[in-house]
Amino acid sequence: MPTTVKGVIARRANEPAELTDIVIPDPGPNDVIVDIEACGVCHTDLAYRDGAVSDDFPFLLGHEAAGRVSAIGEDVTHVAEGDFVVLNWRAVCGDCRACRRGEQEYCFDTHNASQQMTLEDGTALEAALGIGAFSEKTLVHEKQCTKVSEEARPEVAGLLGCGLMAGLGAALNTGEVRRGESVAVIGLGGVGSAAIAGAVLAGATTVIGLDIVEEKLQAGKDLGATHTINTKDLDRDQIVEKVQALTGGFGADVVIDAVGLPSTYETAFYARDLAGRVVLVGVPHPDAELSIPLADVFSRGGSLKSAWYGDCLPERDFPYLTDLYLQGRLPLERFVTGTTDLAGVEDALNSLHKGEVLRTVAVTR
Ligand SMILES: [Zn+2]
Ligand SMILES: [Zn+2]
Repeated sequence: MPTTVKGVIARRANEPAELTDIVIPDPGPNDVIVDIEACGVCHTDLAYRDGAVSDDFPFLLGHEAAGRVSAIGEDVTHVAEGDFVVLNWRAVCGDCRACRRGEQEYCFDTHNASQQMTLEDGTALEAALGIGAFSEKTLVHEKQCTKVSEEARPEVAGLLGCGLMAGLGAALNTGEVRRGESVAVIGLGGVGSAAIAGAVLAGATTVIGLDIVEEKLQAGKDLGATHTINTKDLDRDQIVEKVQALTGGFGADVVIDAVGLPSTYETAFYARDLAGRVVLVGVPHPDAELSIPLADVFSRGGSLKSAWYGDCLPERDFPYLTDLYLQGRLPLERFVTGTTDLAGVEDALNSLHKGEVLRTVAVTR
């Protein structure tokens, strides 16, 4: 029997998100129903609400979630009822051109549930990032569920499902930060702060946080940044000089742009050492354009990479990152700066707009 539960939807572009009844169909062959316990409020939900992702309204919002599997389809073997899971939007297919060459982190055909959830009148809901977890229950593909330690708090573990993984992965996977390296991170929101934590975890010995808000710089220090630079009144050359001064005059081995503006990317490009790596993890506006002399791209060498979802493999990365958090070696709990309920999601989305918080988490259990 289909189940009716409460969920937060965006009905039309630029209208407030609303809490309403949604219908969860019975799971198809590889589908599972997850009872959501906590779901973080991410900028991507804001982008869905405001029509910046697509026009396929209505959307069921929410995608950084942890919960418990409560029903499984007939062919499901990956998880069982009662499993504590973090949801992911990279359920690798194993068969696309990326998967076949062994680059599953680029999978171009990730799995989602075989059916759509609906409104009570039967209108199909488009689930944010194929998840839709600002809801008491959601329907996903079994491989969108990654089992992690039962001991993790769902508010914390759920954040690994998107923003935290993007930032941690930008340092650990895409940037491949190594012991003793220097790393600069531009923009210390949730993703950039996670990149600081990732750089520390990887053994970087110089970790520089850059932002225009003093409180965010302090939060970066609390996560292990060895230096911070308030870039508020500095031009690009001044920022580059400051990074160079902290890295023996050369620039950082890895610079992570967690903002995604042309100006921050140019800063990242010039603030790295020769042959260093630039990692773009901040999502740029569709109209943003970059202009860097091609001769500089050549002569400065190294690599310019983009981190998609932190180039993560959920089955590899979520469990061990959860364990490190439980062992006190990765302070993921610091990222939860507030909690709310499903009715509070709209307010939390608007606070994100103002750049006020790292992560507010909607708790639904
Ligand atoms: Zn694939
Ligand atoms: Zn997200």
